[in-house]
Amino acid sequence: MKNILLLLFIAALFAGCSLNLVTGRNQLSLVQESELQLMATSQYNTFLTANKVLSSANRDAAMVDRVGARIANAISKYYNSKGQGSVLEGYKWEFNTVDSKDVNAWCMPGGKVVVYTGLLPVTQTETALAIVMGHEIAHSVARHGNERMSRAMVQQLGGSALQVALANKPKETQDLFMISYGVGSQVGAMLPWSRQQETEADQFGLIFAAMAGYNPQEAIPFWQRMSAAGASAPVEFLSTHPSDQTRIKKLKQFMPEAMKYYTGK
Ligand SMILES: [Zn+2]
Repeated sequence: MKNILLLLFIAALFAGCSLNLVTGRNQLSLVQESELQLMATSQYNTFLTANKVLSSANRDAAMVDRVGARIANAISKYYNSKGQGSVLEGYKWEFNTVDSKDVNAWCMPGGKVVVYTGLLPVTQTETALAIVMGHEIAHSVARHGNERMSRAMVQQLGGSALQVALANKPKETQDLFMISYGVGSQVGAMLPWSRQQETEADQFGLIFAAMAGYNPQEAIPFWQRMSAAGASAPVEFLSTHPSDQTRIKKLKQFMPEAMKYYTGK
């Protein structure tokens, strides 16, 4: 009996932990990705309704669409080439640009992306925009948000299932979701991504941008501009993606690998 219980316990532990084939490490994953995608669709639509979304006729919005489509295409190619196309199951990409002074961008599960116009004076070029969008989308496909949401479900909602939490504590659960995906400071203190998650998002973001035909080397001056912007005024993006010399150093170390994927000139 004791052994059976022990086996059940171990099985439960493993069910909640999944090996991410891209990041190559075991990740806490207590919430189904499909459930998170459902929640993302509803939270994304709520967000878009509450904010001023630029029409796709707008030049900046058209650029965001174009970059997003190229990166999404690169990601499909990347995962299919590794025989892991299933990672993108349920993805229905959407790219929207909102008129806001905030310097920010994010991607919810299932490929729901928002870029704030306040980011564009920092990116300055389409290539740098591709670097940021590649980074944000890498957080999503590497299921970093799922890790954060799972941890929060254990710490703050007693490890209950997502649907139960949503039924019992809808507001708290939605706020945790928004914080887990770096969506907006209106729901409270933002959590920075961990150093490891940042490094993974940087590296896979560079690969995806490079495969989409954008020069990954642009990441270095971009992150330097981002740091400088944060030095003169608070920048929302930096509260979730702290930038420092370690990031720049690691980006430089990884650059030769990223350049292997770059087919442009
Ligand atoms: Zn990040």
